[in-house]
Amino acid sequence: MLKRAHQQIRRAGKKLNYSDKQVDWLLRTDAEHQFEIKLANGKTFQAYRVQHNNKRGPYKGGIRFHSEVEFDEVRALATLMTMKTAVLDLPLGGGKGGVVVEPRDLSAAELEELSRKYVVGLQKHIGPDKDVMAPDVNTNATVIDWMVDEYERLSGDTNHASFTGKSLDNGGIEGREAATGRGGVITLAEFLKHQKAGFEKLTYAIQGFGNVGAFFANVALEDHPKWQLLAASDSKNAVYSPKGLDTADIVKFKADGGRFSDYNSEAVKIISNDDLIGLEVDVLILAALGNAVTDKNVDQIKAKYVMELANGPVTVTAQQNLEKRGIPVIPDIIANAGGVVVSFLEWQQNLSGNKMTESQTSRKLHQYMARAVKEMIDTSETEAISVTEASFMNALRNLDNNN
Ligand code: NAD
Repeated sequence: MLKRAHQQIRRAGKKLNYSDKQVDWLLRTDAEHQFEIKLANGKTFQAYRVQHNNKRGPYKGGIRFHSEVEFDEVRALATLMTMKTAVLDLPLGGGKGGVVVEPRDLSAAELEELSRKYVVGLQKHIGPDKDVMAPDVNTNATVIDWMVDEYERLSGDTNHASFTGKSLDNGGIEGREAATGRGGVITLAEFLKHQKAGFEKLTYAIQGFGNVGAFFANVALEDHPKWQLLAASDSKNAVYSPKGLDTADIVKFKADGGRFSDYNSEAVKIISNDDLIGLEVDVLILAALGNAVTDKNVDQIKAKYVMELANGPVTVTAQQNLEKRGIPVIPDIIANAGGVVVSFLEWQQNLSGNKMTESQTSRKLHQYMARAVKEMIDTSETEAISVTEASFMNALRNLDNNN
C-alpha cells in the first residue's frame, strides 16, 4: 500500500514537473513514533503514530487496533490522509496510528488501559492544534472517549477538540457514523452527473458490506431509490439477485451479526467474492480491503465504473488496465473522504462551541465532496488524464498553494 501511495504521488509530481527534491519531500514523513505499551498485568503491545505532513494544518487520522498492523501500512495510510485532506481542501494534514493487538482478546478494563496508555505515550505530540486523532478499524467512540479523558487529564485542556469520533454526549457530531458511506453516495452521484451519464437509475454491487458499505447502501436507498443493489459480500460469500436485493433487509441481517452464507431468500443466490467482482453491473464498489483488485483478477471486471470506498483496493497497474478499457476508477482519496470531512466539522464545532445539526453537517459534507469531484473532473479533462491521477494532482497543487 505504501508503494502504491508513493507511485501515485510520483506520477502526479511528474505531471506537475516537480523536482526529485520536491517529490521526496512529499514522500517522507515528518515524524514517526514507535513505542511499547505495557499493561499492569504485564502484557505488552507495539504502538505506532506516523505524522506525515502538517503543511495545511494539524495532522489528522485514525488509530486502528489490529493484530496485523504494520509500520509501513501506517505510513501509507498517513500519506493518504495528507492527500485526502489536501484534495478536499481542509485545513488539516495527514497522520495515522495503530496498535498491534487483537482487541477481542482483551477484557474491557484491558482495552481501556491500552487506550489510555496509547495517549500517555503520545501526549507531547498530539492535541487540537498538533495532531487530532479519530477512530479507525476496531476503535470506536468508547475508545475515543477514554482517550479524550486521558488527554485532558494530562494536559488540562477541556474543549474536546483533541480527538474526533467522540460519543454525542462527549462533543461528538451528528452523522459521523454514516459520513463515509454518505460521502461515497455524493461522490458517485456528482461524478455521474458531470459525466452526463444519467445517474437516476443504476445497478451496483458492493464488495465488503461492513460499516462503510452498509451505510453507503442505506444512504443510497434514501437519496437515490432507483439505484439497485444487486450484490453484496462479506469476507466469505456474496448475496446476489439480478432483480435487486432487499437493501433494508440485508442491512438488518448484517447488523444482527448474520453471515451472507446463511442468508435465506428464494430470490437470492449465494455466490463467491470472485463472482461478485465479475458481475455485469453499472458500478462496482470496493469497500473491503486494500489490494482487492490486482493484475490477477482485473480482467474479470465488467462494471462500467469502479469506486474505491476502501483505502487502496485497486493496484496502480490494475487501475491503468481499467482506464485503458474505458472503466474509470473513482479514487479512494475522494470517494471515502466523507469521514474526514465530518471529523473536520466536529473539530471545528468543538473549537467554536457551536453545535451543528445533522442536516447542517450533511449540507456541508455535500459542498466539500461536490467541489472535490468537480475539480477532479475538470483536471482530468484539461490534462487528459485519469480521474485518479487528476485527484492526486489536485492534492499536490493544494499542498503547494498552502504557503
Ligand atoms: P468493516 O470491518 O466494518 O467492513 C469491512 C467489510 O469487508 C466486512 O463486511 C468484511 O466482512 C468484509 N471483508 C473482509 N475481507 C473481505 C474480503 N477478502 N472480501 C470481501 N469482503 C471482505 O470496515 P469499514 O469501516 O467498513 O472499512 C472498510 C474499508 O473502508 C477499509 O479499507 C477502511 O480502511 C476504509 N475506510 C473506512 C472509513 C470509515 O469511516 N470507517 C473511512 C475511510 C476509509
